[in-house]
Amino acid sequence: MYEIKLKDGREKAARHHHPWVFSGAIESVEPEREEADWAKVYSASGEFIAYGWYDEKSHIILRLLSWNDDEEIGEEFIRKTVRSAVTRRRSFFSLPDTTAFRLIHGEADFLPGIAADVYGREIRIIVSARFADTFLPVIASELERLLHPALIEAVTDRQFAGAEGLSEKTRTFTGGAETKGQPERDNVRFLESGIWYESAPGRSQKSGFYCDQRESRNAAERYAAGKTVLDLFSYTGAFTLHALRGGACRVDAVDSSESALRHLLYQIHLNEDMGVILAGSRDKVTITAANAFEHIRGIREDFYDMMILDPPKLAKTKSQLENAMKAYKDLNRIAMMKIKDGGIIATFSCSGALSREDLRKAVSWAASDAGVEAQILASLGAGEDHPVRLSFPESEYLKGFIIRVLK
Ligand code: SAH
Repeated sequence: MYEIKLKDGREKAARHHHPWVFSGAIESVEPEREEADWAKVYSASGEFIAYGWYDEKSHIILRLLSWNDDEEIGEEFIRKTVRSAVTRRRSFFSLPDTTAFRLIHGEADFLPGIAADVYGREIRIIVSARFADTFLPVIASELERLLHPALIEAVTDRQFAGAEGLSEKTRTFTGGAETKGQPERDNVRFLESGIWYESAPGRSQKSGFYCDQRESRNAAERYAAGKTVLDLFSYTGAFTLHALRGGACRVDAVDSSESALRHLLYQIHLNEDMGVILAGSRDKVTITAANAFEHIRGIREDFYDMMILDPPKLAKTKSQLENAMKAYKDLNRIAMMKIKDGGIIATFSCSGALSREDLRKAVSWAASDAGVEAQILASLGAGEDHPVRLSFPESEYLKGFIIRVLK
């Protein structure tokens, strides 16, 4: 185990339980060697602060895990942390209409760089840190022991692969052991809020489905009755399906990914067949493969009653914040100019670098530039399976508002 001292004046965040320590805050590391290992972390004056994992090859060189001096840090600590995260989601396992949700929400569940979602009988893991990659077999075996899934699949988050020096790979585990090669298997079918989805593991974005938008989809559905809806950045159509179930008379879905749009149509048929939405719902939907930022400039004015704006992460780091704010403002400004008087916009940001207040600011600039009044009807975020850890504000990455535009 390493003994690490932090620099005087640089230990405040660590003391306040923020889990990330960058190299600039480190005074000394003993012994001198290169392998990643557990670390006991002290202040400059020698007081214990936390236990962590030290890995020189990670862009976050030290990840803090426990602030309890008596902790027996090691593999069993990881198993215990996985168990606690799963136990906290106990109530989700008995939901009658939802079989997809998050089991482990990274740092917010005290496991850096790992997101694990359950989809019916399978578990998908996204690895975004070397720590998670190193301990993946331990985490997978504990999940196996607790839940006996048909399969656990882990993919590397493309966005962090470079910074963490991880290769982009897919690893699978069955019966607690890592499987060699890619097992042949069918798509997984799962329910969210009573709507059926099917996803093709490994071939789709993120973990194949964005279960962080569950509550927002339900919120948006309540406004959809009788509306003409634009679902921008629709992906595979979760908001479109909710709008249809909510009684929308037309939904235009736009995404840059053609395969996502094709899958959207498939999922509409699936839900028609299952009786979740009315037969013939397909005829109410159009799909357009396009750059949504461009597409919205060309739409007719006063045509849509409702718009969903769910863009991908526009600010990956704090340094991109300013440009991202402009992009959010612009998107919302055009939406406000084009939507009908009294129209509803459900607008989102999933950029961790941008706070809820930032999004609110961007939306308020948008209203002012568009020359409209706007009311916030609801403030949205991920569900409780994606908890926001107060000592790690970055865990509140998803925020949104339902807005009514008054002209
Ligand atoms: N609303 C979706 C999730 C959206 S994720 C849901 O509820 O499931 C963001 C989506 O934006 C992805 O599907 C991605 O393909 C799409 N995307 C990224 N850049 C885009 C662009 N410039 N124009 C249109 N779509 C884009």
